[in-house]
Amino acid sequence: MAKVIDSKIPAGPVPEKWKEYKAHQRLVNPKNKLKLDVIVVGTGLAGASAAASLGEMGFNVINLCIQDSPRRAHSIAAQGGINAAKCYQNDGDSVYRLFYDTVKGGDYRAREANVYRLAEVSNNIIDQCVAQGVPFAREYGGMLANRSFGGAQVSRTFYAKGQTGQQLLLGAYSSLSCQVQAGKVKLYTRYEMEDVVIVDGRARGIIAKNLTTGKLERFSANAVVIATGGYGNTYFLSTNAMGCNCTAAVQCYRKGAYFANPSYVQIHPTCIPVHGDKQSKLTLMSESLRNDGRIWVPKKIEDAKALQAGTKQGWDIPEEDRDYYLERRYPAFGNLVPRDVASRAAKERCDKGFGVNNTGLAVFLDFSESINRLGLDIIMQRYGNLFEMYEEITDVFPGDVANEINGVKYYKPMMIYPAIHYTMGGIWVDYELQTSIPGLFAIGECNFSDHGANRLGASALMQGLADGYFVLPYTIQNYLADQAVWPKVSTDLPEFAEAEKKVDAELDRLLNIKGKRSVDSIHKELGHIMWEYVGMGRTAEGLKTGLKKMHELEKEFDTNLFVPGTKEGLNIELDKAIHLRDFFTMGQLVAFDALSRNESCGGHFREEYQTEEGEAKRDDENYFYVGCWEYQGKGNEPTLIKEPLEYEAIKVQTRNYKN
Ligand SMILES: Cc1cc2nc3c(=O)[nH]c(=O)nc-3n(C[C@H](O)[C@H](O)[C@H](O)COP(=O)(O)OP(=O)(O)OC[C@H]3O[C@@H](n4cnc5c(N)ncnc54)[C@H](O)[C@@H]3O)c2cc1C
Repeated sequence: MAKVIDSKIPAGPVPEKWKEYKAHQRLVNPKNKLKLDVIVVGTGLAGASAAASLGEMGFNVINLCIQDSPRRAHSIAAQGGINAAKCYQNDGDSVYRLFYDTVKGGDYRAREANVYRLAEVSNNIIDQCVAQGVPFAREYGGMLANRSFGGAQVSRTFYAKGQTGQQLLLGAYSSLSCQVQAGKVKLYTRYEMEDVVIVDGRARGIIAKNLTTGKLERFSANAVVIATGGYGNTYFLSTNAMGCNCTAAVQCYRKGAYFANPSYVQIHPTCIPVHGDKQSKLTLMSESLRNDGRIWVPKKIEDAKALQAGTKQGWDIPEEDRDYYLERRYPAFGNLVPRDVASRAAKERCDKGFGVNNTGLAVFLDFSESINRLGLDIIMQRYGNLFEMYEEITDVFPGDVANEINGVKYYKPMMIYPAIHYTMGGIWVDYELQTSIPGLFAIGECNFSDHGANRLGASALMQGLADGYFVLPYTIQNYLADQAVWPKVSTDLPEFAEAEKKVDAELDRLLNIKGKRSVDSIHKELGHIMWEYVGMGRTAEGLKTGLKKMHELEKEFDTNLFVPGTKEGLNIELDKAIHLRDFFTMGQLVAFDALSRNESCGGHFREEYQTEEGEAKRDDENYFYVGCWEYQGKGNEPTLIKEPLEYEAIKVQTRNYKN
């Protein structure tokens, strides 16, 4: 029988036992009792914005990241844009509408109150970023421009070409640098958090590895915030940056933080298809392209076969023989249906044999109609860098004319296919973004908070910056208020020594396996298992098989891994081995959650639970909850804890993007 939890776990009084630590405590500066220290792990959009804001508010911030500069966090990869309910287009947008679209887009599995707050602060984010000098695209008259993203019938996405994440991160980085200069933020680049240190039930510090020297170091603070991104790379091939990992989050989970909704993984419909078994990364083609690009496959199976054999090209197929299947199935939203819906529709067409490349696993994204209507110049202004990126990877430029049939020009279409992109699941947090461990907070993609079972495009940047600029800096103070009289603990406490010893022992263990297989070869195999059995279409039987295969492969990892070098100095293979150890824990968690959720919702599609038309079939009676998992030790099944969802403002109904 699963336990039930409330999303508002109070921070609770300071335990009496704290007084025992007097001997270790650094004396509070009597002149400024409110000088509190906060560790922020991560410098992506969530981490950098939080660290900058906390510094500005007067806290002493220790900010760490694994890259050599905060500007290289994975957030710079974000292409398409960031949502806000400004209603600059006068198209009827409002805070309520953004809130509603987000809850509906998440297939009614998000916490309503969090999403409302997110929609409320969305407009402040744009103002904040404009004030920082973020060069958002503008209309001819000077107003900020907008485009549309999936799951919305209004135009509310603010963007900077196809480099929105980079520009937003530069804005956050300039604020962060200001606080570094002011002495309020101390930045540790090339540092990786390996463990969270719990003292008397509260998060009081971390153990981090200096990735350059290999040394383990201890950091203590009054609270710890993790902003370490998602776990998409569990699948090996994903659109995420190669360095993305879930080590910090998994370590918090091992130390008692609940992990919520791990099975909610987003598969993005528009990525460059896999083209061989030597690939280690997939490339996203931004969802913004679906504003002007039309997705299609041939209507006739013989045309599809000719495309697969290479005897025909997309531009040989005339208009009347093209099946714009999203426009056909979902007339109200067309090509701008949410990602989970678009991905499944692509898979359905390819499974039926209509795929358009040699593997049969691709559909077309075609700009012919919009280039004919608007001209190539306009299209290049909107998506120039994405067209160039596509050309660099595939040697096909989507703006090249390829054919003319009946006076209509046909341009070379892109080929796309769904790929792992984002993880809606994450460390469980309450409304204040505090995890189930008091003093430990989680923000950005690494928490589970706002997107339910499916995230709408351009909402991750919104959530990361909402958490970092406008939510955490305030909510963390409710926790820190009762910490003001309690000084930062010394890193000499036995809890720190114990945690460091365990991390060190793990490094030795991995180095001493001295087997025959590289980290990447095992990771790739794990990725295949995940994609095959825990991917876009899941079944109870497949998930059980996937779990069994993961156990076997984890044994192989524990006994036959080869990590060259030593733990002194830089050792990238060792760092990757640590990440892979945690991807195993994560992969199993995703499968456990998927197996326990006997319904389909958003990105979690159980093939046994679908409508006659192949749409996700939810079971609100039995699964209207956040599934939180509590770690029970390696190899043991984790325990399920349920946070029931309560909707007051929105009527829960079946998602409909058809009319
Ligand atoms: C190709 C691509 C395009 C995207 N486009 C969009 C878009 O247009 N709009 C949108 O809203 N979203 C988009 N997203 C999603 C969005 O980019 C991410 O969800 C978001 O940037 C995550 O931000 P974050 O701050 O939570 O994490 P990240 O940006 O992943 O940052 C994680 C930080 O944690 C640090 N870190 C990780 N582990 C450790 C550790 N153990 N110790 C110390 N530091 C650690 C890293 O160094 C990094 O600084 C896109 C994603 C991809 C992959």
